[in-house]
Amino acid sequence: MNRIRVNLDKRLSASYDIHIGRDILDRMAPLLAKSGWAGRWYILTDSNVSPLHGDRLLDVLRGNGQAAEMIEFAAGESSKTIATCIGLAEQLLKRGADRGSGLIALGGGVVGDVAGFLASIYMRGIPCVQVPTTLLAQVDSSIGGKTGIDLPAGKNMLGTFLQPRAVFIDLAFLDTLPPGEFRNGLAEIVKYGIIEDTELLSVIEEGTEALQSRNPALLERLVSASCRIKKGVVEIDETEKGLRRILNFGHTVGHAIEAESRYAVPHGEAVAMGMAAAALISERQRHLSAEDRGRIVSIIERTGLPVRIPQTLDTGRILAHLATDKKKKDGRIHFVLLRKPGMPFVNGGVPLEIVQETIEALKT
Ligand code: ADP
Ligand code: ZN
Repeated sequence: MNRIRVNLDKRLSASYDIHIGRDILDRMAPLLAKSGWAGRWYILTDSNVSPLHGDRLLDVLRGNGQAAEMIEFAAGESSKTIATCIGLAEQLLKRGADRGSGLIALGGGVVGDVAGFLASIYMRGIPCVQVPTTLLAQVDSSIGGKTGIDLPAGKNMLGTFLQPRAVFIDLAFLDTLPPGEFRNGLAEIVKYGIIEDTELLSVIEEGTEALQSRNPALLERLVSASCRIKKGVVEIDETEKGLRRILNFGHTVGHAIEAESRYAVPHGEAVAMGMAAAALISERQRHLSAEDRGRIVSIIERTGLPVRIPQTLDTGRILAHLATDKKKKDGRIHFVLLRKPGMPFVNGGVPLEIVQETIEALKT
């Protein structure tokens, strides 16, 4: 098991560890027992993860003398609502959860967001431990302390910053993950490689087959490298004021595609298309060479992710979504562009025509 320390500003939140390895639940339980963070744990999970992995976590905690219970809710993004949170809070109350209790988020990004949000407001805040079970949550959403739930008007419109007490990434959870969900996570790993770690890109280029077969050693290496990059950015910019924006590479157009498809295009696929778009904009603006862009596109394709935008999505409407992105500032669209793989920068003024031409070009 390897451990990555996230060092945070003491005035804002406590520093914490990310533990990464295969079959680490047996080692997690004694750590939680020793931590003194909570006298009683409530595992929050969803209806898919609960039957696959819930009982095992419950058994391991109880086996280590911890009082623990499990509460599940319906799987899927449609559960990321205030109504789910209220229902869960009522169940917690009924089962006696108090300020001495803690939540364990066992699941993908939805569970992590709902549990994190609830932990930040339940009785004015109780500890939360993240146990991500999707590749996407393992390399992205479980680290960094952003929580969020959706409103009818948009995703993650209500949210808080709550750093977890610890993150336990057990790679064995990935064995049961459907292929589409696995690819979603690969998109973020490719993103980390593009923005910060060209060695990671070479590992993906050379290990494509091992990656598709989910080779455990390779996965551990990629997940660890990704977590290290994310934690480095979070440490410098805990509350998303500046540097953290580079993590948005591929997400500007990506979010617009997701929204325009009404979320029929999964996050990872949308980000893959968005990364292809950002690379093409970078080339057209003469920041990135055609050769480097070609390499980026071929790496994305190797992971099985799309680099073309579906014809069925209207370009004008994608552009309209860009203009309403909540990360927009002063009416200008901020793009993370590239000079080279490993050298991103934030550009505040890409002309709309260039974005339009790029989207059109990626549709053919
Ligand atoms: P994210 O992709 O943001 O992490 P979700 O929480 O929606 O988002 O997870 C994606 C889907 O995968 C959900 O249907 C969830 O129940 C399911 N899931 C999560 N972890 C596993 C796992 N280890 N094995 C199988 N299915 C899983
Ligand atoms: Zn993402």
